[in-house]
Amino acid sequence: MAIAFTEILAARKRIAGRVLRTPMRRSPELERIGGVSVLLKCEHHQTTGSFKLRGATNAVLSLSEEEHSRGVVTFSTGNHGRALSHAAIAAGTRAVVCMSALVPDNKVAAIRALGADIRIVGKSQDEAERAASELEKAEGLRRVSPMDDAAVIAGQGTLGMEVMEDAPELETVLVPLSGGGLISGVALAVKTLSPKTRIIGVGSKSCPAMAASLQAGHPVEVPEEPSLADSLGGGIGLENRHTFEMTKRYVDECVLVGEDDIAAAIRFAYEAEGEVIEGAAAVGIAALLGGLVKPAGPAAIILTGRNIAPDLHRRIVNGETPKP
Ligand SMILES: *Cc1c(COP(=O)(O)O)cnc(C)c1O
Repeated sequence: MAIAFTEILAARKRIAGRVLRTPMRRSPELERIGGVSVLLKCEHHQTTGSFKLRGATNAVLSLSEEEHSRGVVTFSTGNHGRALSHAAIAAGTRAVVCMSALVPDNKVAAIRALGADIRIVGKSQDEAERAASELEKAEGLRRVSPMDDAAVIAGQGTLGMEVMEDAPELETVLVPLSGGGLISGVALAVKTLSPKTRIIGVGSKSCPAMAASLQAGHPVEVPEEPSLADSLGGGIGLENRHTFEMTKRYVDECVLVGEDDIAAAIRFAYEAEGEVIEGAAAVGIAALLGGLVKPAGPAAIILTGRNIAPDLHRRIVNGETPKP
């Protein structure tokens, strides 16, 4: 089920004033390497440290009174849990967040600090998802998927609108890709405003669920390896409702990057750009640095989040590719 552009417009009105409009800025160093103009959408400066606040805020503000009185439940690799907790608590409703043991401690601590109810379950995002579904039934909580939810996708689409408003001339937009909530919303917005602009999804080789599903022609499950791009963990769900079809329809190409590429891109962002970004946010830069994507015209890269543990970041900047 595809969502409509009008839902992104409605989301933008709903979340205005509750999320930041993040800056876009040029990267002279990437322009030299890529031979085209390159803009960085600095969404890692967003409140809560990632774009997830857009979709989460739209979902919380779309609850019925009845749902609002009971609260929301989700499963998360960390950033969506933090965003949903922030949005729920700001709106005065309860948030329960199920996370697997793969979620880094810094992310769990940030969610706890917001006052959410935390459940650590299992060793994969898929196990956390099952726990959330059980709580949805047992406690009547509204389940807000980090990616396969119409309100979440519409909220993430507001990011695509900002990108095209700031740079209508873009030929290519590189978007980090896991479950596809971000790319579905962004691609719908970008293709509506500029049908010729190409959308490239960049995923992690450690968790290529969407790429494998597109290849198979239907949603499939893949084994999940720990990755420096921890926020790209998790599948797309065998019962996927929105993001598989939307990604198939709107995304021009998907590429996958490895752990060394991600580490190099985190290092590059820090040294050349002075930006602290987490692994999942680094995949677009990694694809450009590694020559996997060669834009023919002006390109934008979405930097999606900054929630990396400081000691891990320090090791990467010092030249390591740590095993997560
Ligand atoms: C969630 C997340 C992604 C991937 O978004 P999807 O909607 O699952 O494709 C990318 N980067 C960061 C920082 C994230 O938190």
